[in-house]
Amino acid sequence: MLDITKIRQDFPILSRKVNGKPLVYFDNAATSQTPQQVIDVIVDYYSNYNANIHRGVHALSQEATDKYEAARQTVKQHFNAKNAYEIIFTSGTTHSINLVANGFATLLKKDDELIVSALEHHSNIVPWQMLCEKTGAILKVIPMTLEGQLDMDTYNNLLSDKTKLVFVNHISNALGTINPIKTIIKKAHQVGAAVLIDGAQACPHIKPDVQALDVDFYVASAHKICGPTGVGMLYGKEEWLNKMQPYQGGGEMIDQVTFEKTTYAGLPHKFEAGTPNICGGIAFAAALDYMNTIGFDAIAKYEESLLKYGTQQLLKIEGLKIYGTSKNKTSVISFNLEGIHPYDVGTLLDKMGIAVRTGHHCAQPIMDFYKIPGTIRASFAFYNTKTEIDALVEGVKKAKMMLS
Ligand SMILES: *Cc1c(COP(=O)(O)O)cnc(C)c1O
Repeated sequence: MLDITKIRQDFPILSRKVNGKPLVYFDNAATSQTPQQVIDVIVDYYSNYNANIHRGVHALSQEATDKYEAARQTVKQHFNAKNAYEIIFTSGTTHSINLVANGFATLLKKDDELIVSALEHHSNIVPWQMLCEKTGAILKVIPMTLEGQLDMDTYNNLLSDKTKLVFVNHISNALGTINPIKTIIKKAHQVGAAVLIDGAQACPHIKPDVQALDVDFYVASAHKICGPTGVGMLYGKEEWLNKMQPYQGGGEMIDQVTFEKTTYAGLPHKFEAGTPNICGGIAFAAALDYMNTIGFDAIAKYEESLLKYGTQQLLKIEGLKIYGTSKNKTSVISFNLEGIHPYDVGTLLDKMGIAVRTGHHCAQPIMDFYKIPGTIRASFAFYNTKTEIDALVEGVKKAKMMLS
């Protein structure tokens, strides 16, 4: 059992007021809040050992380098990667996906096929469309069902020896659906295709094991896992990372530079051009430590109870429809009130101190599928409470009265 009162004390922001009301923060799928333990690490970095890494002979540089590389070890252990050099620090999920998409430019030829799913965030669609334009490869789409699940029969039919890469999210940010990634990966490997899993929305809820999944690439952002913005990770199997071209050129990523020819550094530095987000990487590791201290099993169990309670209570409101009703889902509730624009509801909820997301959630194809302009999305974290859900339900009722 989680001691929620104690956990909430770790998050200074949770005790602030918004529009004169206690903050109810239900926009965790967009970004999570930051515990004092992580804030302290950030302050410590800039107060005590801020320096550039990997080149200085002086003490501060050495200390920063040691902490940064220790952070890589923490990330490696968290995701159970085989080697720390298979963990590339990036600026986040979007950067990680672009890095892989660019790395595949020289590995694809015209009419090769790539498979995406209908449930993706734009950042797992657009970089691949750009790659297709560059290479002449063809993008195929796994359709979704009304419940917000992937149509796995069609997926099986899309796979062929032309398929080179499959990319799907572990969990949909718009609907909360947990996708059957283990099966997806296994089937892709049977035709020789590599798989990238967008774990941005899964990592706040699940501790993925990249070796058990046998996944080729797994990507995530720190800011959705209680860490800071502007930092994230790419796990890539060594064999793939070695085949891929570097994404960016610059300092840190080279072996030898002359005007005739430059050779690249080995992994992971080949993909880490320029001064990285040093403090961010160290704080990312601190965030993983914090989450692991609470424990992902306890987090999952508690969030499931929030999801169940929230779903039950919201469905009591007449004319309220929930999108994404898979049995396998995490604590995200996407909904609309009949005849009312989601934006209007979101604006009124904000007046009551309740932060939800409204709109297409960077997943326009899902909204097109349901023929809606967007949804109201309430996404719960382990520091949220049933009392806060009650406030949301009351708020939605009030908004409905005012808008209908
Ligand atoms: C948030 C999110 C992204 C994008 O993450 P950034 O941190 O903005 O790069 C991609 N995919 C999913 C599923 C997400 O939830």
